[in-house]
Amino acid sequence: MKLSRFLFVLLILSMLSGCGDSASTAEEYNPCRMEVMAMDTIMSLTVYNQPAEEGMEVLRKAATRIEELDALLSVTDENSEIYRVNHGGGEAVSLSEETRQLLAEALALCGSTGGALDVTIYPVVRAWGFTTGDYRVPEAAELSALLADVDYTRAALEGERLTLPEGVELDLGAVAKGWTGDQLMELFAGAGVTSAIVELGGNVQTLGAKPDGTPWRVALQAPEGGYAGVLEIVDKAVITSGGYQRCFEQDGVTYIHIIDPSTGYPAESGLVSATIVADRGVQGDGLSTALFVMGREKAEDYWRAHHDFDFILLCEDGTAVMTEGLEDSFSLYGGWEDSPLEIIRK
Ligand code: ADP
Ligand code: MG
Repeated sequence: MKLSRFLFVLLILSMLSGCGDSASTAEEYNPCRMEVMAMDTIMSLTVYNQPAEEGMEVLRKAATRIEELDALLSVTDENSEIYRVNHGGGEAVSLSEETRQLLAEALALCGSTGGALDVTIYPVVRAWGFTTGDYRVPEAAELSALLADVDYTRAALEGERLTLPEGVELDLGAVAKGWTGDQLMELFAGAGVTSAIVELGGNVQTLGAKPDGTPWRVALQAPEGGYAGVLEIVDKAVITSGGYQRCFEQDGVTYIHIIDPSTGYPAESGLVSATIVADRGVQGDGLSTALFVMGREKAEDYWRAHHDFDFILLCEDGTAVMTEGLEDSFSLYGGWEDSPLEIIRK
């Protein structure tokens, strides 16, 4: 890890960590809280019902774990494993066990979503400037040339060895935060924590219920600001992909950071956001990106074929759609309160 980043993280930790200081939660539940800057976002971690010392200790371990994952998975950090893989010159490279596991899961999601999620989309994302913030609209010819190297089936994972043909590059950005959430839940549970919530740049993941035994209430962000809904969950990840999260405008057209791998252009599927409620963060993260690309009809088909998760889609026409598993736990709110909400059944 770069020294400056390390110092910055330390500074943030010392400013924002602490126990028993949350105004919104009864003191008797001993909330311990920490904020960490990583993966280009702010992460907030809270564990409950731990003695202050133990609570801070588990949060410090969690922060270290996040830093490890960031250092492993970053596409831009020249010391990361993904960077090494992307610069392997077409030769087989061996992966750490963690990267191998995450990549295997990500490739399985790419396959099951028919390539709506594609972990080799990176050269296209870079051409649009989403990796640096130097935004531009590439020429159609440039995009079609780049698309020739976008194909997750060309990432050949055999055991711990991965071969990427020259020109093919990996980016696990669409699943990394979800995977991180899963690792944090595991770390917390292993330390004896039974009630915890993390927010990883918009992804929310929870361990158990609130310390008083009631479900967590998670707000669904409205694309126009404020909240569009409230969701009650226990032991779940809630992960949203939306065009409004990162985008730029040129000549009156808005370009978003979620790319349709079949065109090379930002996804235009009629959705403003796709939220997945799943047991595992990595699945929720991969599917939120994929279902956003798919749009409503294909998302419904995908859910009917798998239904081991639930979703909420906010559509551009002002309607909302959710799967039946959320019937008793989700309600629209604020500006969306009176919008039509359709329930999808098996
Ligand atoms: P975020 O990480 O901003 O919360 P997502 O989980 O939806 O949002 O991931 C979007 C990121 O994944 C983009 O910034 C880009 O790096 C990458 N990406 C964009 N489109 C795709 C895609 N179709 N498949 C895989 N990765 C993608
Ligand atoms: Mg995602």
